[in-house]
Amino acid sequence: SQLPLEHLSEALISSAHLACNVKKIRDLIGKERKIMGVVKANAYGHDAPYIAGCLEKLGVSDFGVANIDEALQLRQTKAICDNSRILAFCSPLDSHIPFYLRHNVTMTVTDFRTMHAAAAAAKAANRLLNVHVKVDTGMGRLGLPPEKAMELLSSIEENDHLQLEGVYTHFAQSTISDDFTRRQTDCFRHLCSEFEHRFRRSVIKHAAGSGAIICQKNAHLDMVRPGIMLYGYPPDSTTTIGPELKPVMQFQAKIIFIKEVAPGTSISYNRTWIAPEKRTIATISAGYADGYHRRLSNRSSVTINGRSYPQAGTVTMDQTMVDLGNASRAAVGDTAVLFGWDGPSAADLADMAGTISYELLCAVSARVTRVFI
Ligand code: PLP
Repeated sequence: SQLPLEHLSEALISSAHLACNVKKIRDLIGKERKIMGVVKANAYGHDAPYIAGCLEKLGVSDFGVANIDEALQLRQTKAICDNSRILAFCSPLDSHIPFYLRHNVTMTVTDFRTMHAAAAAAKAANRLLNVHVKVDTGMGRLGLPPEKAMELLSSIEENDHLQLEGVYTHFAQSTISDDFTRRQTDCFRHLCSEFEHRFRRSVIKHAAGSGAIICQKNAHLDMVRPGIMLYGYPPDSTTTIGPELKPVMQFQAKIIFIKEVAPGTSISYNRTWIAPEKRTIATISAGYADGYHRRLSNRSSVTINGRSYPQAGTVTMDQTMVDLGNASRAAVGDTAVLFGWDGPSAADLADMAGTISYELLCAVSARVTRVFI
């Protein structure tokens, strides 16, 4: 809200927890490697300018975003120093390239077509464009396969308007140490050493997101690109060997109504929850439009005044009901924690909703006020 109103729902964002997570990443990768803080998708819902500013104070000077729009947000809000690196992971549209040049944003080159467009735009602007080449070692999303990437790297190296700063790849299943993942690492390392040998200089080589930071030490290379770990969650529910991380976001909402219901009373759309006996029901001011996933209906729990209560009935757009049992230990105006350090884990809720913590974090909508603590 633009008004100085008490928040109906809010996402507390803890810079102290972010600092703990950065320290844990640092412990895993050692002192020499760089950390690129992945702050795409509004820093997984945590507010990208705020998170990037915090990360910079913690010694991070490389930032990963999805596209030029997100990069410009960081530049225009002055969230970070002008000379901190921002790499946009997606391949740009041709019309976007001048903005990379104008605002000092590092571009991802995925193929010859993008390379030619980038070189032409840089030449027209009479500037040098910083680029990282994305190699497809098995993710199947962007980039040329390693056997074709050497030619691309060489062409960029020989172009007067492009500055090849880095080469990177991305894993398809980084928490599994199988042949496929090992081959991704090996192909990438081989390509990079061939390039560095041929041109007698080094580039920034990077491959590891959170999963590989934890599970593929051989892929840490010169820089790692953590996203979900920064925000306090392991990359998936099978990764138990990761360090203990602290959630950076706590999503919470106010109780706005409490009532007692008789046995047999139904709650919410489609009458999926029926009171088995006399119950007290609280209505909470957050629903799926705030990012509280509808698939959590009748599955999740919320924490109120330190106690956990089951959610009851279908989650609606703006409100969610909770079964307080047969005695009310809560009042209108009390806070219900939907997920965070004082409530359920977003990772557990994600399991219940058949998704991943990433999606629940990104889904916390603009209607939810971010409160920086
Ligand atoms: N690098 C790239 C290219 C990505 O697309 C992402 C996120 O999907 C990351 C790094 C960060 O991944 P994670 O959040 O698993 O650490």
